[in-house]
Amino acid sequence: MSRVLLVTGGSRGIGAAICRLGARAGYDVAVNYAGREDAAAAVAAEVRAAGRRAITIRGDIADEAAVAAMFDRCAEELGSVDAFVSNAGVIHKAAPLAEIPVAEIRRVVEIDLTAHLICCREAVRRMSTKRGGKGGAIVLISSMASELFGAGGFIPYGAAKGGIDVLTIGLGKEVAGEGIRVTGLRPGLIDTDIQDDTGIESRIARFGPTVPMGRAGTAEEVAEAALWLLSDKASYVTGTIFNVSGGR
Ligand code: NAP
Repeated sequence: MSRVLLVTGGSRGIGAAICRLGARAGYDVAVNYAGREDAAAAVAAEVRAAGRRAITIRGDIADEAAVAAMFDRCAEELGSVDAFVSNAGVIHKAAPLAEIPVAEIRRVVEIDLTAHLICCREAVRRMSTKRGGKGGAIVLISSMASELFGAGGFIPYGAAKGGIDVLTIGLGKEVAGEGIRVTGLRPGLIDTDIQDDTGIESRIARFGPTVPMGRAGTAEEVAEAALWLLSDKASYVTGTIFNVSGGR
């Protein structure tokens, strides 16, 4: 029987790369997205072209009812989720904390931290062998911004990602006896659309050469690590976080 992968923010960037690679690894894939229906549909088409089943699910990950509905629809149409990637995220324009509007701080913490707590809560309620589930694997997408303490004008974003790190390690320990592995990835500078939202012009071209490996990473390089963490090859790995950052 095939396994089912659910990826939040699967329509673009790192999430889309995880969906594509997941299909090649044999998963049926549920592609969650916020608003870019065309992008989500294109990813789903690529999953189907790889011979796997795919559905797209529009839903705001910060909305508890939408998150529960996302897991339920996935279970009804593809089967219960075996592998969950809590990936969707946003960023604010780079600035000193004193200059960032409170509404922006709230938006970033809501989507980059609170929403991941909600999503993981719903995932565990369904996966836990103590609650009648069959177990599973969860990968959370953090950021090097947590290790770098939000340097460069990203304190709210980095603080939210620091919270993701606590969630990953704490939940990994909490559900280790319930058939669920929980791990995280901290991508460094990755060439995706999110860079346009930082307000820093040509960020990849300017900062890529400052990375120890001398370049930015690709979404596919992050996806490779995520698929390994989700796989049975990582069967003794939980409550830990890998950096995918070119040495940064
Ligand atoms: P991206 O290309 O901007 O894609 C963001 C994705 O998240 C899109 O699929 C978007 O859906 C979805 N999304 C945003 N808000 C959502 C919400 N409220 N509910 C559901 N989906 C939502 O970003 P990315 O670079 O791939 O980032 C993915 C993750 O990696 C994020 O958590 C980010 O913080 C993290 N990360 C990225 C980098 C980097 O350098 N790129 C580095 C470290 C960490 P729509 O397409 O519908 O808008």
